[in-house]
Amino acid sequence: MAEKKKPETHVFQTEAAQLLDLMIHSVYSHKEIFLRELISNASDAIDKLRYESLTNPDLVKFTDDPHIRVIPDPEAGTLKIVDNGIGMTHDEIVENIGTIAHSGTQDFAKMIKEAKSKELVPEMIGQFGVGFYSSFMVADRVELVTRSAREKKAWKWESGSGAGSYTLEPSTRSEPGTTITLYLRKNEEEEEDYTQEWTIRGIIRKYSDFVNYPIRMKIERTEIARDEEGKPVEGAEEKKVEKDEVLNSMKAIWTREEKDVNDDEYREFYKHISHDWNDPLEHIVYKAEGTSEHRALLYFPSSAPMDLFMADGEHGINLYVKRVFIMNDCKELIPEYLRFMRGVVDSEDLTLNISREILQKNRHVQVIRKSLTRKVLDTLKQMRKDRPDNFEKFWKEFGKVLKEGLFRDPERRDDLLEICSFATTSEPTEKISLPEYVERMKEGQESIYYINGRTREAVERSPHLESFRKKGYEVLLLTDPVDELWVQSIYNFKEKTLKSVSKGLSDAGTADERKEAEEKLKEKSEACKSLFESMQKTLDEYVKEVRLSTRLTTSPACLVSDERDMTVQMEQMLRATGQDVPKVKRILELNPDHEILEKLQVIFKEDPVDPRLADTAELLHGQAMLAEGLQPPDPNAFSKKMAELITKTL
Ligand code: ADP
Repeated sequence: MAEKKKPETHVFQTEAAQLLDLMIHSVYSHKEIFLRELISNASDAIDKLRYESLTNPDLVKFTDDPHIRVIPDPEAGTLKIVDNGIGMTHDEIVENIGTIAHSGTQDFAKMIKEAKSKELVPEMIGQFGVGFYSSFMVADRVELVTRSAREKKAWKWESGSGAGSYTLEPSTRSEPGTTITLYLRKNEEEEEDYTQEWTIRGIIRKYSDFVNYPIRMKIERTEIARDEEGKPVEGAEEKKVEKDEVLNSMKAIWTREEKDVNDDEYREFYKHISHDWNDPLEHIVYKAEGTSEHRALLYFPSSAPMDLFMADGEHGINLYVKRVFIMNDCKELIPEYLRFMRGVVDSEDLTLNISREILQKNRHVQVIRKSLTRKVLDTLKQMRKDRPDNFEKFWKEFGKVLKEGLFRDPERRDDLLEICSFATTSEPTEKISLPEYVERMKEGQESIYYINGRTREAVERSPHLESFRKKGYEVLLLTDPVDELWVQSIYNFKEKTLKSVSKGLSDAGTADERKEAEEKLKEKSEACKSLFESMQKTLDEYVKEVRLSTRLTTSPACLVSDERDMTVQMEQMLRATGQDVPKVKRILELNPDHEILEKLQVIFKEDPVDPRLADTAELLHGQAMLAEGLQPPDPNAFSKKMAELITKTL
C-alpha cells in the first residue's frame, strides 16, 4: 500500500491573511451573506463549465443535471455547499484561494492598515471579490474538496480560523465540481443557526432566488396516512420522509416585467453579478424588438471599483443567449468608456456556441452595442436633468471614464457633451456642460475658454486667467488627466473654437480687440527687443521666446505654450507613463504695465550685461512656474537668489 503523503502546508499571502483576520473578528451584522457568496461562486462555476463545454467540447463535457446542493447537519454543526461546476486543479486552488489575486491588492492592504477598528465595512471587501473568505465569518474551519472538469484528480483544501496557513492534499470525488464544508462556529448569543431549514430557505429566497440552476436541499417531513377527506387514518403511524426541494425560483430577473420585480430583487441581483457589496445607484431595464431582439438589465454602480483604471478589470456585462449564460465581462457589448456598467444582456439572435473570437465581428453584437450605448447615454442625460443628486454621485465616480468617450467615440460626441460636466470660474460648486457654457457666453465672446491643471485650487490662482476675469468671461477648469486628451480632439463646438487660456496668443477679446491691443504693444515690443533677446539667452534651456503679454493685468510674468505644443500637464503625464518626451520649451510673457519691466529697461540701457538682468530673468521664470503650481527648474538656486534679493531690499 502506498504510504499516505503528508498534506502540503501553504502560508496565506499577507493580504489574504489580514482579510481572514478581519472576517473572523467581524462584527458585521449580515453574516448570512456568506451563503450568497458561496452560491454565487457555485453558480459561476457551473456557468464556466457550460461555456468551456461549448468552446472546448473535446476536453470538457457539460453535466445533464447542473445544480447546487445545500446539506445542513444540525447535529454535527456543519453546512455543505456542493456544485457540479468546473472545479479547480491544484494550481488553480493555490492561485484562487489563499491569495487575493486581484490587481488592487496593494490598495487593499493600505485600506486594511487604515481601518481603525476591526469592524468589517462591506465597501472594504466588496471591491476585491473576496467572497469565499466570508465563510470565516461563520465558520471555525473550512474544508473544500474539488475536482476539475479537465482531470480525474481531486484535491482537499483546508484551513482553520486564525491558522495563517492552509493544507492541500489529494482527495477523491466521483464527478467534477466542488464541495465546501463549513464547520460552523458554536452558536454564540443570538446568532443565527445556519443549519436550520427555515433559516437557509430565507437566505436563499432573499439573495439567490434568480440563480440560474436549481439549489436543492433534502427536506425531512413527518407524514401520516390520511383518508379521502384528508384526516389522519386512525392508528396509522407517523413516517419520516425525505424529499428534495428546489429552494429558488430560477426566474431570470431580466425577463420579468419591471412592475413585478421589487427594488430589493434588483439590488440583490446586482450584488450577485457584480460581486459588489454596495447597492447600485440606478438600473435600466429594457427590451429591444425588431431588427435585433434582446433584453438588458444594466446597473450604474454607486462607487468605482479599484480596478477601473487597470487593464485586467473584470465583471462588466454578462452575455446570455436565450436565457443560457455564455460569458461574463463581455467587452464587445459595451464601449470601453462605459466599462463601469454592470448587468446582463440576453440575445435571441446569437447562437449558443458563440466564442469570444467571433464576437468582435458579429453583426448582432454590434447592433446590441449600439443600442446599449444609446440607452445608457439617454439615461445619463435624464439623470442629469431629473435626478441631479444621483448624477452628481455618478459624475464624481465615473466622470473621468465617460470623458474618454469624447475622443474615442466621435459619433457620440454631441450626446456625451450634453452629459459631461465641468467646473468653471463662475461657479464655486456647480458644474456645467459645454452647451450650457455656450448659452451663457458673453456678447462678443468668440471662443470657449479652458485651462488645464492638476487641481481646481491651482488653476484658479493661475495668472493666465487675469484678463478673462477682468472681462467677466467664464473659463472651464479642467483638472483630470483625461481632459488633456479630449481638448485636443475637439476644435469646435457650435461654431465656437475651444481655446486654452495658456496657449498661443489667445486673450479675452474679440479678434478686433486683440488686434488693437497688439498694435498698442508694437512700439513697446520694439523698445524691449534687445532686452528680451538677452533674457531669452539666459533662459534658453527652458524658454524659446520672451515677449509682452496681453493676458496679464497684475502678475509680472507667466509662461504660455505655443498653439501646437504639448502642455506641461501632458508632458508630465507622458513622462509619468515612462515615455521619453522631449522637453517642450515655453514662452515667457511679461506684463507690459508692470514696474519690473520698466526697471529692467533702465538697467539694460545703462549696462546690457549687468548681472541683475540675468538674475531677474531667472526669478521671473521661476515664479511664473510657481504660479502654475510647478517647481522652478532648480529650486535650490531659485531660493538662494530669492534670499539674496530679500537681503538687499531689507
Ligand atoms: P470571486 O468569486 O469574487 O472571484 P472568491 O474569493 O469568492 O472571489 O473566489 C475566488 C476564485 O476561486 C473564484 O474566482 C473562482 O475562480 C474560484 N472558486 C471559488 N469557488 C469556486 C467553486 N465553487 N468552483 C470553482 N471555482 C471556485
